[in-house]
Amino acid sequence: MYKSKYVKTFKIRPNRYILFNTLSGHIDIADESVIEILNKISKGEKYEGDLLEYLIDRAYIFQNKKAEENFLKKKFDKWIQQIKSAPPYFAIVPTYFCNLACIYCFERDLERKSDVISDKMLEKVFNTIEILSKNHSKKPHIVLFGGEPLIWREKQASVISKILDYSSEHDYVIADIVTNGVDLLHFNEMLEKYDIGRVQVTLDGPKEIHDKRRIFPNGKGTFDRIIKGIDDALEKGIKIDIRVNVDKQNINYLPALANFVTKKGWLKKGNFSIHIGLVYEYGCRNYQFTAEDAEVLREVFLLREKHPELRAFRLAAWKPAEIVIKVLRTKEAVFPRFTYCGANTTTYCLDLYGKLYACLDGVGRDEFVIGRFHPELRVNEKKMKLWRRTVFDIPKCRECENALICGGACGFHTILAGRRLEDPLCPKLNELLQLTFEYFYPYLSGEKEHIMDSN
Ligand code: SF4
Ligand code: SF4
Repeated sequence: MYKSKYVKTFKIRPNRYILFNTLSGHIDIADESVIEILNKISKGEKYEGDLLEYLIDRAYIFQNKKAEENFLKKKFDKWIQQIKSAPPYFAIVPTYFCNLACIYCFERDLERKSDVISDKMLEKVFNTIEILSKNHSKKPHIVLFGGEPLIWREKQASVISKILDYSSEHDYVIADIVTNGVDLLHFNEMLEKYDIGRVQVTLDGPKEIHDKRRIFPNGKGTFDRIIKGIDDALEKGIKIDIRVNVDKQNINYLPALANFVTKKGWLKKGNFSIHIGLVYEYGCRNYQFTAEDAEVLREVFLLREKHPELRAFRLAAWKPAEIVIKVLRTKEAVFPRFTYCGANTTTYCLDLYGKLYACLDGVGRDEFVIGRFHPELRVNEKKMKLWRRTVFDIPKCRECENALICGGACGFHTILAGRRLEDPLCPKLNELLQLTFEYFYPYLSGEKEHIMDSN
């Protein structure tokens, strides 16, 4: 008998453990006796007791290592098929200019030229999308990113309208527009004509804190203007997803924000959602309010206990927590994570200067360029291969027991930490999972009945 190396054990209380099988996706509560059985099997001792069938069924144990490899291969092959039929994502950057000067902006070191993509380059973008999506069976998904894609100035508004028109004429899916929301009110009339997956607007808390963080270059706050834009968008049926960028400065304002969106009645609307993002250290050199992601998650869990309305906020910044919530909600096993994000599979980012990237957050930085689509389409296959990879393509990750919950780490974090993509920066998964299971244990065990998460 062989115990799978992908089974993780978390001690929650005396004689209470969580077993998380990152290979089969099962989560179970166990006591000391079960842990002992698994330890014995790990040491090569024989076990023929009552739990044998269950442990085999949930893929905690296998006949031998080879059997585990075969099980993994089946999952992997299934995943390859899914990826082959997944749509390609094209993020278009029409400008690197932004009308704000947020205090933690991770793009603040980019050159903020006011250029907007030219008509000629836009043609090239459309041609490139057509060429690159030929090998995919699904229609392209379009994402608008920046700089700030929704700045209400003549040339830019006309470009956005052309992209949306072209996408809808070609049956592309307009998946996502990532905006600061400052000019949303002007754009809503245009946006409501299209079926847009979501418009992601950043709101960093109630007015008193948002207006200290998301500001115009002259220091003026943006809260009132964004709220008007969101109100109007929701009225018009546009799907709004608020992103709250959280760090030490605004974390304690989350309950007040939850209160605000509840009072607004937004949570009751079918076209509204909200999630928490994180402000990271790298792009915000010397930024004083950043915190470790586990530290923020711990705080968020504490706040959620006191303020249940916060459960409407998806924990998008913490994938392991999202995965656990999914198991809780669907009561089904989750699939292993063979990659970290879209940069490893089907995402392309095209900017106004004819440059091509795999990583959305890396746009505008030379070290992230993987090719060009102007004057002609040229992809640097070597660079592309470093991004388009599974966790098993990375030597360091191959034997890692966290491989199937990690997926190989974020390339953006890795490069900005001064490392090479081949040597990824490991996320602190054990800490995040421990915190997550401690928080959700009462729900898993049935001690607490109801789970209100909208995740
Ligand atoms: S990045 Fe680190 S934690 Fe993630 S799979 Fe690779 S070695 Fe493991
Ligand atoms: S590599 Fe990191 S920053 Fe880049 S797209 Fe993936 S998750 Fe985002």
